[in-house]
Amino acid sequence: MPMPTGIRSSALKTSKPSQITADPTTDRPEPERKTSTERKAGVMDIFHHKEKRNSLVPNIGRSSSPAKSSPKNSPKLAPAKPAKLVIDIESPPLVFHGNTSQSSGALLSGQLLLTVTDPELTLQTFEMCLMARVTFKKPVQKDCPKCAIKDTELFQWKFLTDSTKFKRGDHTFPFSYLLPGHIPATSHGGLGEIDYILDCKALSTLSDSITVQRPLNVQRALQPTGDKVSIRVFPPTNLTARIILPSVIHPIGEFPISMSLTGITDHSLKNIERRWRVRRMNWRIDEHTKIISPACSKHAAKIGGEGKGILHEEVRSLGGEDLKSGWKTDFDTQGGQIDYEFSAALKSSSRPLCDVASPTGLEAWHNLVLEIIVAEEQIAGVGKKTAIPTGSARVLRMQFKLVVTERGGMGISWDEEMPPMYEDVPGSPPGYTKMEDFDGDLSDVELERPNR
Ligand SMILES: [Zn+2]
Repeated sequence: MPMPTGIRSSALKTSKPSQITADPTTDRPEPERKTSTERKAGVMDIFHHKEKRNSLVPNIGRSSSPAKSSPKNSPKLAPAKPAKLVIDIESPPLVFHGNTSQSSGALLSGQLLLTVTDPELTLQTFEMCLMARVTFKKPVQKDCPKCAIKDTELFQWKFLTDSTKFKRGDHTFPFSYLLPGHIPATSHGGLGEIDYILDCKALSTLSDSITVQRPLNVQRALQPTGDKVSIRVFPPTNLTARIILPSVIHPIGEFPISMSLTGITDHSLKNIERRWRVRRMNWRIDEHTKIISPACSKHAAKIGGEGKGILHEEVRSLGGEDLKSGWKTDFDTQGGQIDYEFSAALKSSSRPLCDVASPTGLEAWHNLVLEIIVAEEQIAGVGKKTAIPTGSARVLRMQFKLVVTERGGMGISWDEEMPPMYEDVPGSPPGYTKMEDFDGDLSDVELERPNR
């Protein structure tokens, strides 16, 4: 296909009431020659362009800037693009059900919407990749982006094999990909982050670069497998704690903890009953994270060569509570028994991580720490009722693994969770969809959609 030559935008050529919008190849206004009427016309010219070319508005503040038509003297306006790109996700929230060896993955599907605002646009390349990004918040070399960010391309779509001409209007490109179930979920921790990003780029034959990025929220939901019962003993006392916990808990919502303490009474001495009474309890949930920060090739020498990394670990509390009453004490059954059921929850403001163990080096897991403070008392003499503290007290400290995971089947769509992106906000109501003749090589385009 021959490369079109000349000026890309006829809008620029035709909508020019004055000479201020100079030759787009230099695109440098010449203010020194302006009269006051010309200046007024120049302002109108900007609005005129804005009306004619919606892409001017969403382009404000965007980073990409092909040097060709950059209006260097008006910093508020980014260069007008001949087209814009929007990624529409059509698949339900990306949730892996089950652990890394069980999950069959999650299907991503959607379409790319290319809206050509120029009368015609010829693209030489049009590609999108799905990137997995690990961000190390404690990089080996501070301020080195190559130490801090590792990108891995998971998949690439090539929408064109050859330069292809598109007319003004909307053009859609469906895409899909089955995310493999063994990859780690999106995780944002204090030591590091795992993100998934769709990164799309179209390059015109006139070197206009049209780009769009969209993050994907990938979640994992582990199914509950029934309550877990744990037993702890505290020699040399006869105290035995039995704790019942759910097999998984969630970042949001309460969960029940059931505790029973047996072996609280002791009749081994004649005419003396010794017994333990619960004075206080407290629970706390700790989040442990661990990451291995690798070095870029330039800074590998700092840590003794390639393939090595620095281990960072962090523990933080995700909530807890002191409990001073509410349990039932029964000294009369054999050995005595104290029962207590209460609710716990992760502090919502703590932005808990779900459990993750990633080959990239990021790991997160959770523990419930439970402390019961018991004090000893005794009743001496036959028929006596009054118990007297012996002065002996113990802290019964226990730790249990808690698995934090997303709720299966109740996941909130990630685009409901996130505020709309700038490019999601339309400049005007959407127009009616219309059909138009396809102008290009159909067989090439059909062959180049590897999204089956
Ligand atoms: Zn580095």
